[in-house]
Amino acid sequence: NQGIGSWPARRARMTPGRVALSARGRDHTYAELRDRTQGLAAGLAAMGVRRGDRVAYLGPNSPALVETFFAAGLLGAVFVPLNTRLAVPELRFVLEDAEPAVLLLGDGHDGAGLPGRHVRAEAYEDLVAGGPPGPIDEPVGLDDVCLIMYTSGTTGRPKGAMLTHGNLTWNAVNLLVDVPLGPDEVTLVSAPLFHIAALAQTLVPTVLKGGRCLLEPSFDVERTFELIERERVTVMFGVPSMFGFLTRSPRWAGADLSSLRHLLCGGAPVPLPLIRAYQERGLTFLQGYGMTETAPGALFLGAEHSVDKAGTAGVPCFFSDVRLVAPDGSLAAPGEPGEVYVQGPNVMPGYWRRPEESAQVLDGDGWFRSGDVGVADEDGFVRISDRIKDVIISGGENIYPAEVESVLYGHPAVAECAVIGVPDERWGEVGKALVVPRPGAAAEPEELIKHLDGRLARYKIPKYLQFVPELPKNAAGKLLKAPLRKMYG
Ligand code: ATP
Ligand code: MG
Repeated sequence: NQGIGSWPARRARMTPGRVALSARGRDHTYAELRDRTQGLAAGLAAMGVRRGDRVAYLGPNSPALVETFFAAGLLGAVFVPLNTRLAVPELRFVLEDAEPAVLLLGDGHDGAGLPGRHVRAEAYEDLVAGGPPGPIDEPVGLDDVCLIMYTSGTTGRPKGAMLTHGNLTWNAVNLLVDVPLGPDEVTLVSAPLFHIAALAQTLVPTVLKGGRCLLEPSFDVERTFELIERERVTVMFGVPSMFGFLTRSPRWAGADLSSLRHLLCGGAPVPLPLIRAYQERGLTFLQGYGMTETAPGALFLGAEHSVDKAGTAGVPCFFSDVRLVAPDGSLAAPGEPGEVYVQGPNVMPGYWRRPEESAQVLDGDGWFRSGDVGVADEDGFVRISDRIKDVIISGGENIYPAEVESVLYGHPAVAECAVIGVPDERWGEVGKALVVPRPGAAAEPEELIKHLDGRLARYKIPKYLQFVPELPKNAAGKLLKAPLRKMYG
């Protein structure tokens, strides 16, 4: 078995007594992870789970989720982690799409209203203990699918990206080329494991290196500070909004952050003021750009260039290639925007049961079209401008909302913001900024517009600016622009 499911046993061969997972105050060694994963795989096999079958999991980050991921891999089955923040009809949509042989339920989920066969959290230990003894010996190769990960659903309904054992392995290698993780790592896993970043950028590489993962059921600001200080966390991943929450906490100024070695940040553009706030504390972000379909790393900005190339998402990961394609199909020159294409051993073979959509995004040479716009500088560092779908076209000029948002973030009264396009008789479309003010800040919309004046070209300055109480986000912490356009467009 060359797959990821064999990793707990491979790791236990080397470092059986090291702690693999810590959750709810309990430590689980690599030997335990191996034994429990094998027990669970045997239990699932006894239930009839076979190669290629889907095994779904609905629940917060927990040892059971991790064991199910590895156990499915041992059987050549396919792990399908479900987004706990979806409503029942949305979960039904995903389950009817994935058709799992079994759905394992984590704490706090009773499975009411969900189709198929369920194993409830109370019955989980019986499943781990209940299989026939003896090792599982299923041939699994790197090209076998081990995961169907649903995209975040930022631009539409989530799509099931099929990812292979090889995709995840190569993504981990791509990360380790630039980030020297070691066996002493204490990795805080508080972003949800049902999104690719937490699973593939933190859990998988930490296990590969024999480090320790702190599994947290959710992201909580107070708890994050407490864990960083008490457990001496060395690695954490977060989307920019998570790192932003930390800076706005009263604990930020006095917190002991000296253990942190690698702060991985990605999933959305990282605003410059956020980069600076961490720099002031001696911390540099390792920034990345990627997507579910590329498992996820495509571009990476390592520590070396985190300051002089701040604002870009870096260069292609070591074993991957990225190119920017202009609307006419030619390669975009430096300084010119182009659609980001990705090729490499981390690119998915396709979407689950969606041959047409797969063909739209994957060409015959294995290039994946991201739907994002990027601009490379003379040194090849790529700035992600925005999603093609979000670009505002005003009087024939393209406005990238992400750029406007990043300048708005520079104003101290702005806690969060989003820029959308609204119809305009004269220009076709104009920008409208929606701003969540920082508590206690007393700024007028005119003042914020004035802040943009001189920092952005005239045509990029939003015609409207409105204060709003909050911005809709998905479980990955990403802004949902479609509902924003509906509400405020
Ligand atoms: P869906 O495909 O269902 O609409 P999604 O694209 O948000 O959802 P993910 O695969 O989780 O689902 O996210 C990938 C996207 O996130 C990228 O295509 C890009 O738009 C955005 N993104 C990721 N990293 C960055 C980054 N560093 N800078 C800017 N945007 C980023
Ligand atoms: Mg997407």
